[in-house]
Parts: sequence; C-alpha cells; structure tokens
Amino acid sequence: MTEAHFQAVHIIGGGLAGSEAAWQLATRGVPVVLHEMRPNRTTAAHKTAALAELVCSNSFRSDDREHNAVGLLHEEMRRLGSLIMRAADANQVPAGGALAVDREGFAAAVTDALAAHPLIEIAREEIAGPPPKDWDSVIVATGPLTSPALAAAIAARTGEDALAFFDAIAPIVHRDSIDMSVAWLQSRYDKAGPGGSGADYVNCPLAREQYHAFVDALVAGDKITFHDWEAAATPYFDGCLPIEVMAERGRETLRHGPMKPFGLTNPHSPDVKPYAVVQLRQDNKLGTLFNMVGFQTKLRHGEQTRIFRSIPGLENAEFARLGGLHRNTFLNAPKLLDGTLRLKAEPRLRFAGQITGCEGYVESAAIGLLAALFAAAERRAEFLAPPPPTTAHGALLAHITGGHVETIDAGPRSYQPMNVNFGLFPPLAQAVKGDGGRRLRGTEKALAKKRALAARALADLERWIAGDTHAAAALASEASGQRGKLLKCARRTLALSGARRRAAAE
Ligand SMILES: Cc1cc2nc3c(=O)[nH]c(=O)nc-3n(C[C@H](O)[C@H](O)[C@H](O)COP(=O)(O)OP(=O)(O)OC[C@H]3O[C@@H](n4cnc5c(N)ncnc54)[C@H](O)[C@@H]3O)c2cc1C
Repeated sequence: MTEAHFQAVHIIGGGLAGSEAAWQLATRGVPVVLHEMRPNRTTAAHKTAALAELVCSNSFRSDDREHNAVGLLHEEMRRLGSLIMRAADANQVPAGGALAVDREGFAAAVTDALAAHPLIEIAREEIAGPPPKDWDSVIVATGPLTSPALAAAIAARTGEDALAFFDAIAPIVHRDSIDMSVAWLQSRYDKAGPGGSGADYVNCPLAREQYHAFVDALVAGDKITFHDWEAAATPYFDGCLPIEVMAERGRETLRHGPMKPFGLTNPHSPDVKPYAVVQLRQDNKLGTLFNMVGFQTKLRHGEQTRIFRSIPGLENAEFARLGGLHRNTFLNAPKLLDGTLRLKAEPRLRFAGQITGCEGYVESAAIGLLAALFAAAERRAEFLAPPPPTTAHGALLAHITGGHVETIDAGPRSYQPMNVNFGLFPPLAQAVKGDGGRRLRGTEKALAKKRALAARALADLERWIAGDTHAAAALASEASGQRGKLLKCARRTLALSGARRRAAAE
C-alpha cells in the first residue's frame, strides 16, 4: 500500500490530547480530520476558540526529570516529538522548577502548528452522537467536559455505569511510606472475598482522643468550593460523600462509616480495641499504592497532607495522589479499553486524554500521543508494541488499561482519575546503594530511587523508540524539516477524503 491510500483518522476534541494526537498522526504521514466544537459550542470551562486551551492553571507542574514522574513524562514526550511540549517550552514563563507557560502563546503555537500542517483538516463542529459508521478509525478525546450529546452516545455504547460524570477521589499513599510497626494487614472479619486473602487492607488505629482531634481537624480544615456550574452538575450522594461532610453530620458518623473499627484486631496490641480505624486498600496490581477507603474529599491539598499525616501509621505518608471531587467525564477504562486504548466492544473507537481516567494536562497529552502512535501503526499495517511499563508513558498506559485493582466492596467506583507518579512504575530489581555500596536512608534513599527509576525509564524509552522504526524516521525527518514527497501524496489523500466527507454530509 502506498502512502497515498491512507484514509484519514478522525479525532474528536481539539484539547490537549486531541491536538497532540493530530500532530503525531500527521508527522507519521497519516491524514487527520480534527473535529472541535468550539467556538460554535463551548464548555463551562473553556473561554476561547484556541486548540489546546488550558482551562485553569498555566502550569505543567515539575520539570525535574530525575526526581519527579511528571518531569520525566515531559522529557519522554520531548523525545517522542511532542507538539504540546514543543509549544510549552517555547512559551515558558519563570516558575522555579515548574514548567509554566504563557497560556495564550502556548495555545496559539499549538493551533498555528496544526492549522499549518498539510495533513490536518480542522472541522469546527460538534459530533453530537455516535461517530458515523464510515469512520473506521476514530480517537475520542473530548475531555472532562465532553458535550452531553456525545456523552449520551458513549454511555449508550458502553453502559451507563461505565461512564462517570464526576469523580470522587480518595488519596493514595505509597505502600512503603506506611509505618507497619503501627498499622497492620487484615480484612474486616478476615473475610477473603473474591480475589482476596483475608489480609487485604492496611489498618491504622485511632484511640478516642485521636479520633476526636481528627474529626475536629476535618471540620475546621480549609476546603475548595465548587464552581457554580460544577455544583449544579456534581451532586453529592450517600456512598461517596466527602469525608469532611460526613464529619460535619455528627461526631460519631465516621466511626459508623469508613472509620468503623469492627471486625479488626490490632496484632501490635491485641488487648486494646481501637476506637476508630482508617483502612487503606491496594490500588494497583504492583501492590505499590494503597488508597484511603472512603476518604474522597474537597479539603485543600496542603490540609489533606497535614490532617492525614496525623493518623497513626501515616505520619510519614508519601501521597501519590491527593483527594478531590470534580465534575468530570471518564470511562471505566481498565474494563472497557484494550491495551492500545481501543474500545473492546467497538475497536474502531479509541479513547485518549482525560476521558480515559488519566488526570492533568500533561498526562492527557501523553495519552493522546500514544493513541496516535497506535492508530498510525494500524493505518500503516505495522506492529507497535506498547511502551515498556518501566517508562512514564508505559506506566500510565498500564494503569489505564489494566493495572488498577477493582474494588471488592460497595461504594464509589474504585477506578478514579490518576496523575502519573512513581508508584505506577514496577519496582527496581535491586535496592539503590550509595558510593561503595553504602546503605542509603531517608530522603537520600528516596531521591536515589527516583533517579534510578527515571534513568531506567529513559533508557527503556530509547530502546522502544529504536524499535519503532517509523517513529524514528518521522522524528528524524521532522527534525530536518523535510517531509518530502510522502506528505505531498498524503495531502492529496486528505483533500479526497475531505471531499468525500462533504459529499456524504450533503
Ligand atoms: C475546571 C477544570 C479545571 C482544571 N484545571 C486543571 C489544572 O489546573 N491543571 C491540570 O493539569 N489539569 C486541569 N484540569 C484537567 C484538564 O482539563 C485536563 O487534564 C485536560 O485539559 C484534559 O485534556 P483533554 O484533551 O482530555 O480534554 P480537553 O483539553 O478538555 O479537550 C477536550 C476538547 O473536546 C472538545 N469537545 C467536547 N465535546 C465535543 C464534541 N462532542 N465534539 C467536538 N468537540 C468536543 C472541547 O471543546 C475541548 O476542546 C482541569 C479540568 C477542569 C474541568
């Protein structure tokens, strides 16, 4: 098959994920039609017609590629020729160790690059129902504020329970930062349940005074309020109330809810019954992350760290994710999507960005990037192995497409939005050591571990890129600024597919 025969891939949504996906496909010679509903129809958070608009903060968070997982993701995206990272780097504003951008300059750079690319057609229209049957390869990247008509079509295809319209995020703690000389492993009444062992929860005990001080701190803690538009669309319901709202309902409410102490015996002091217990449940298959059961919250992040570290056993807790509750739209991706982000029930549809359950500008763009690489490989009838799980891209993808452990209890759905973090990476094969094999401790050990994980990730990413020969060629030709004859042929194809699309619409 020659390049001229590629059909266009349709991308719905020109946000962080859709914009990156369009760029990646086009740089691999695959034509794209990017459907963006703004400015004809907008969302409650977007304000402009620009592609890749940042709806809130102008920060891409830490740019430290050695000690921070999102900084590492930045670096990997740069190495994969990311347009989002190129535009961010070119529009950087001073922000210490963070990568912050001039938001207008950033969005203009992305919009201009996409508009100028000969293989990308931008269609300003809402896709208000199921994507037309003759679109054989579609990337849905419509984000947390997917338009209601499309959301209804997705829910109809996936099942109502599979698409959530708000999140209820409980904090997640790195397992190795929990003090197990205070906490212990046990399931309530030692029940094994399906897939359990009878010792599946980490339990943190509170005495009466500790419990009351904790409730007081929750009630007094500084909280984030909903935006007006969010409040109307994000109802609280029993089963996923914020922990502080439960605390406000009565001093004993939590003791009879998520902090109930029944069916548990503390092996560290079997004769003392805890007054209340905080339970943490394994969150990922690697067993490196545990979520605080029932602790969804709207407390500010600083308050969460301060208050939750007052829980016995969690004094030195390192949080992989802090809690939250937002208007959102996301799939139960681990159940619904295959390893290349395709809907198992309808493989012509791929999902990318926040709708897959990742969280944040950078993560959304990274998943857009991967969705495009998979779609491009498919178009070219090439095989593309997923990135190794030791890379930031691979770790995030593995979490979305299967690394998460589904809850065994009633309550809010346990798959909730996730930022990239080192807890998603497979542990190192060997413990890190100092000079001359010196044993490391505390912060020095934590930093050395992160450096080792990051170095492993970049080495594995390089090997993966080298294996993806077309990616390497696309990056090389992009770098030299010569796209050559390939693009001329594919441009013709795009014109033909556009004409066909318009004819079909008429
Ligand atoms: C209020 C709010 C504040 C946030 N603040 C931050 C923050 O400070 N930092 C951070 O990292 N993340 C933040 N996020 C999360 C952030 O939005 C996402 O992480 C990121 O923008 C998601 O990228 P995306 O490409 O998946 O979706 P988006 O960037 O939202 O892009 C989706 C695009 O799809 C379009 N669209 C929707 N439906 C249709 C349709 N049917 N047809 C055609 N087009 C459609 C939308 O107009 C939009 O342009 C925030 C989210 C919200 C809602």
